[in-house]
Amino acid sequence: MFSKDRELHEECGVFAVCGYENAAAMCYYGLHSLQHRGQEAAGIVVKNKEALSIQKGEGLVTEVFDQDKISKMKGDHAIGHVRYSTAGGGGIANVQPLLFRTLNGSLGIAHNGNIVNANVLKADLEKKGSIFSSSSDTEILGHLIMREEGHMIDRICNSLNKLDGAFAFLILIENALYVARDKYGLRPVSIGQLPNGAYVFSSETCAFEVVGAKFVRDLEPGEIVRVKDGQIKSKLYTNDVTDKICAMEYIYFSRPDSNLDGINVHTTRKLAGKQLFKEAPVEADLVIGVPDSSISAAIGYAEAANIPYEMGLIKNKYVGRTFIQPTQEMREQGVRMKLSAVSSIVKGKRVVMIDDSIVRGTTSKRIVRLLKEAGAREVHVRIASPAIKYPCFYGVDMSTMDELISNRLNVNELCNYIEADSLAFITEEGIDKSIHFNKEKHKCSLCLACFNGEYVTNLYDSFEMDKIKKGKEY
Ligand code: AMP
Ligand code: SF4
Repeated sequence: MFSKDRELHEECGVFAVCGYENAAAMCYYGLHSLQHRGQEAAGIVVKNKEALSIQKGEGLVTEVFDQDKISKMKGDHAIGHVRYSTAGGGGIANVQPLLFRTLNGSLGIAHNGNIVNANVLKADLEKKGSIFSSSSDTEILGHLIMREEGHMIDRICNSLNKLDGAFAFLILIENALYVARDKYGLRPVSIGQLPNGAYVFSSETCAFEVVGAKFVRDLEPGEIVRVKDGQIKSKLYTNDVTDKICAMEYIYFSRPDSNLDGINVHTTRKLAGKQLFKEAPVEADLVIGVPDSSISAAIGYAEAANIPYEMGLIKNKYVGRTFIQPTQEMREQGVRMKLSAVSSIVKGKRVVMIDDSIVRGTTSKRIVRLLKEAGAREVHVRIASPAIKYPCFYGVDMSTMDELISNRLNVNELCNYIEADSLAFITEEGIDKSIHFNKEKHKCSLCLACFNGEYVTNLYDSFEMDKIKKGKEY
C-alpha cells in the first residue's frame, strides 16, 4: 500500500515552447534550468506541422538528450518535463510527457503536482473500459479528455473540473497548446515571451533568463491558457478558486533566482533567516548554511545577528540530492558523500547551523556530528521552516507520517536526537511574514499543510488519513 501511493507522488518541473524554430532545443535549455525540480527522468514532446513525437528517458536532462537526439526533434512547439525521484520509480512508462495517440489525433501531457482523487477517478475510468499503461496520475487527464465531446477547450476544462489536487498541466495537441494551473494555486506556472513574440511557459521563472524570454505573468489559480496560431487566450475553468501556493516552493524547492507569484525566492529565504534570529536568537561566533537551499536564510540570520556568515560546509556539487537514495542506510551514506565541514573555520567556534527543513532528521544529525568532529565548540541548529509533521499530498515527496521525525519527537527530543546544543524552528506566522513581506501587494495565502495538517483539499481514500486524524486528536 505504501509504495503504491508513493508512486503517485511526483515532484517535477515543466517547460513549454510555442512557435519557435528548434523548439526542442529551447525546451532542453528550459528543462536544464529546472533540473533541481527533478533528476530522475526527463522527456520532450515536439510538434512538427501536425505530428507529435516523443523522446524520454531516465536520468538527468544531459543524460537523456544529446546533440544528435535534439537536432532530430524538428518542430516549432514543444513541451518538456523533469521528474523527481520517488520510491519505486515506476520505470519508463511513468516518465513524462505522456503521449496519447487517439482516433481524433495525438495529445502530449506534462504534469507537475499530484491528483488527490486519482484512485477514485481511475477506478471509475477502468470500470468504463479505459486501459492504463502507467501508474502515473497524469494519465487520468488523458483518459478524461478522450471521453469528453465537443471543442477541445471544453473537453479539457470539463476534465480539469473532475480533478482535485495540485497541478500545472501542459497539454500539446496538433494545433494548439493548453496550460492550466490548479484552482488552489498550489503549483506555480508562469508565462514568458521570446523576442520573436513566441510564448514559453515554465514551472519557475529562472528558466526564462536562460532561454532569453521576458516574464509576462503567472497563471492564476483555476486559469487555463490556450496558445493557437501565436495568439494567447485565457479563461478560468472554475470560479471556485483560492490562493494557496505551496510554502515549500519558497522554503526549499525552487531556485533562489525564481519569482513565484511575483515574490523572489532568495528574498523570502533571507527574510526567513532574519525572522528566525528574531524568534530564536543565540550567542554565537558564526553562522553557516547547509548548501545550497539554506544559504539565503543563513545570510539573513547572520545579518540580523550581526555575526559573520562563513562557508563552514562545502558541498560536493556532483552528488545528487540525498533523497535520491532510497534506503535509510544509503541516505546516510549520501549525506557523507555530499558535505564536508571546514575545520579551519569552525574549530573552537560556537556555530549557528541553518537548514531549511528537517524531514527525517538524517541530514541535521549528520551535519551536527560533522561540525563537532571538525572542532566546533557548540552547534545551534535553526530551521527556516516550521516543523514538518504531516505528509504532503500535493506533489512534494515528504515521506510518510511515520518517517517524519517531528511527528514523533518534540523540539527538545529532536534536539537530543540530532545531538545539537540547541534547536529552534521558525513559526508559521514567521514564515508567512517572510514570504508575504509586502502585505499590501501580496494578497495570496499559503498552503502550510505539512506543518499544521490543514489540507486545502479533501484527501479522499488516502492511506494516511486515519493516522492524520488520530494525530490531530492527540
Ligand atoms: P532529512 O535528512 O530527511 O531531515 O531531510 C532534510 C533535508 O532534505 C534538508 O536539508 C532539506 O534541504 C532537504 N529537503 C527538504 N524537503 C525535501 C524534499 N521534499 N525532497 C528532497 N529533499 C528535501
Ligand atoms: Fe507544499 Fe507542504 Fe502544502 Fe505540500 S503540504 S503543497 S509541501 S506546503
